[in-house]
Amino acid sequence: MDQLTIKKIGVLTSGGDAPGMNAAIRAVVRAAFYYNLEAFGIYRGYEGMINNDIRKLDSRSIAHVLERGGTFLKSARSEEFKTPEGRKKAYENLKSHGIDALVVIGGDGSLTGAHLFFKEYGIPAVGLPGTIDNDLFGTDLTIGFDTACNTAIQAIDKIRDTATSHDRLFFIEVMGRDAGFIAINAGIGSAAAAILIPEKKMPVEKLIERLKTREKAKKESNIVIVAEGGKSGGAAEIAEKVKKILPTYDIKVTILGHLQRGGAPSAFDRTLASKLGVSAVEGLLHGKYDVMVGVINNKVVFTPIKRAIVDDKKVDEEELRIAGILST
Ligand code: ADP
Repeated sequence: MDQLTIKKIGVLTSGGDAPGMNAAIRAVVRAAFYYNLEAFGIYRGYEGMINNDIRKLDSRSIAHVLERGGTFLKSARSEEFKTPEGRKKAYENLKSHGIDALVVIGGDGSLTGAHLFFKEYGIPAVGLPGTIDNDLFGTDLTIGFDTACNTAIQAIDKIRDTATSHDRLFFIEVMGRDAGFIAINAGIGSAAAAILIPEKKMPVEKLIERLKTREKAKKESNIVIVAEGGKSGGAAEIAEKVKKILPTYDIKVTILGHLQRGGAPSAFDRTLASKLGVSAVEGLLHGKYDVMVGVINNKVVFTPIKRAIVDDKKVDEEELRIAGILST
């Protein structure tokens, strides 16, 4: 596609929210102003595109948002955008505002929507990886992942205090959808006895063996981190299986849940979001369309959205190996 003249950029956050989304929006808007473009906020993701919930942003709209969790543009899931009729309505609304390019901040579903929309209507779009799950190919880290891991670790530290006081075995479930990135990171960072992730099955027998070895070594507490979405079930199911084999153990289950999504973004996420937000606008101005902007080895990299959503991001085998050594 030929390079287009871009004057008005629409920005939206979609799908699951993540800390740092506000910092990303701010960076997109600031960069737009820097390059003398107009910026429009599209509220509630694709739903707002369809319902014409679109407002011009000025520098006041983005004051004091960098440090706030969540997304001031709100996020939503829109079934209607998955239909051709819904996307047609969305296109007509964008046209009525003269919006000629989009920055979409979200996970793989949101980027899939941006890719389809570009194919159908030719509206240049750049995607920003905004998800705590870190499950997008084309970037080492996604916006929100670092904050979510920090939140998880802080919570696990507190649970460890009570686990140690009572010699309890805790199964703690963390988020991550179908991916184990949060579990691995939080598990290493909180000295977990074991980390159960969807990508690698750990048979219950192996887990039992690990727990018994730790008992012999007189470990004071046992925390097992379980990623949601694992094939062996969540923390409650696994705890149930272990209880049957080790009936004398005092077993408890905690599901960290949505607290992992909230809170002020970490320094890392603020920087990542800012870097990616500016790069998204510069990418659009340089004719980079239908791409996701990410960071690989600390360098900004543009990956076709199609690859970002189709290719699998693999868990780091080296981190898994290290976690194994540290938990015995
Ligand atoms: P995430 O972006 O966090 O992965 P979802 O998978 O829920 O979250 O996707 C967010 C939104 O993106 C959906 O509600 C929908 O509006 C849009 N979307 C997802 N998949 C598609 C698709 N195949 N076609 C069009 N839009 C889609």
